Amino acid sequence: MEMKQLAEKIGAAGVVGAGGAGFPTHKKLAPGIDTVLINAAECEPLLYTDYAILKQHMDMVLSGAQSMAEAMGAKQVVLCIKHHTALRLALEADQPLGGICRTGVLPDVYPMGDEIIMIYQALGRVVPPGQLPSSAGVVVINAETAYNVCNALQGIPVTKKWLTIGGSVEHPLVIRVPVGTNVGALLRKAGVTVPEGYVVLDGGPAMGAIVSPATAIVTKKTKSLLILPETIPAVQAKRANVQRLLKRTSSACCQCMMCTEMCPRHLLGYPLQPHRTLRAAGSGNISHPEDLLSASVCSGCSVCTLMACTQGITPSVVMTEVKMNLGKNRLGYRGTEPTRPAAERDFRLVPSDRFMARIGVARYDRMAEWAGDWETDQPFYTLPLSMHVGKPSVPVVQEGDMVTAGQMLAKAEDGISAALHASIDGRVAKVTSREIEIQREVK
Ligand code: SF4
Ligand code: SF4
Repeated sequence: MEMKQLAEKIGAAGVVGAGGAGFPTHKKLAPGIDTVLINAAECEPLLYTDYAILKQHMDMVLSGAQSMAEAMGAKQVVLCIKHHTALRLALEADQPLGGICRTGVLPDVYPMGDEIIMIYQALGRVVPPGQLPSSAGVVVINAETAYNVCNALQGIPVTKKWLTIGGSVEHPLVIRVPVGTNVGALLRKAGVTVPEGYVVLDGGPAMGAIVSPATAIVTKKTKSLLILPETIPAVQAKRANVQRLLKRTSSACCQCMMCTEMCPRHLLGYPLQPHRTLRAAGSGNISHPEDLLSASVCSGCSVCTLMACTQGITPSVVMTEVKMNLGKNRLGYRGTEPTRPAAERDFRLVPSDRFMARIGVARYDRMAEWAGDWETDQPFYTLPLSMHVGKPSVPVVQEGDMVTAGQMLAKAEDGISAALHASIDGRVAKVTSREIEIQREVK
């Protein structure tokens, strides 16, 4: 299929990065790509969503990725999985998977799902800092995204989301639910209670966000809902107050550089030096602007906070704050220096089991079983117009309209945007500039 035609089909189906990024997938199609990587690395601990999709629908995942590869003229598709997933799926390194697809087995290391790290590990290529993977001839898509692309080619839009329910629960599960499902209603259906002193995370323990079950919903990007105690380091780091932290930094940070020396992107040759960014942000000294600008290439992986710093400082929180402010002002790292991975990189990788132990989640790592399609009995489904990177979708329905699951509710705006579809049958109860609410049809 021609690239333009494929982009139209994927765009019409509202496919966005399902691994958490939310970038509209049709906008990833580009000329000059030689490799498509399927990101099934399950970057964070406790997540089994990618594994469940591969176990149930490996053929669809490969088919979706291969369609994209062929449309772009790429020569290969590499299914990137960690060693433990390869063992579970009985796959070997570089195993042919039919067509132009093969496996790429990655070490059990955190953060292997960071696409910049994955591209280097799987292909030995370094994406220049601040540039897209396409600059290295690569497109990376999540396993569920590839599955959604396969559906899009059959005219089936994205209306459901695969996710893991895990952490401090009796039986970790992987399920598929309509987009817009209320988190509280879903946890109740799963028989999960959130005890006093525990939180619910949307996402993994390191990079996920604390959400309120009463108001949070499953979006096109939700990969997991984890119940974890607020006393563990992974959750404590999320509670850090950035202003208080910046005040503390000048007295508490001893500039030991451990955060920089363990930073996975710094080890790839990226200009990131969190100890310098902290020093500049804490002191307000901008005599070396690159110390602040380099924060724009931080992935937010939190290795600096959770594995490196022994002073109780949370460098990743400062990096994220600086990066956010740079983004608001359209500033960022613009260097053209060549990048060279550090010779010591292989010895500084963070093994997944050590990472889990350090961040306090090792005891919760149990295999999640696939439990099928679920629906709650909630009367209303709220669908935000911004579940993706870029401009919000533009509503094409009005209050009072009857809609069926899969019907388009909002089209993609010009530029980078994504379409939105009804995830259930019902009546459009509300249309605002932020969301569309559907009242479920009672049959
Ligand atoms: S590891 Fe902690 S104490 Fe050391 S330089 Fe980084 S922030 Fe400062
Ligand atoms: S969060 Fe910390 S370790 Fe991760 S990329 Fe950013 S600076 Fe490096």
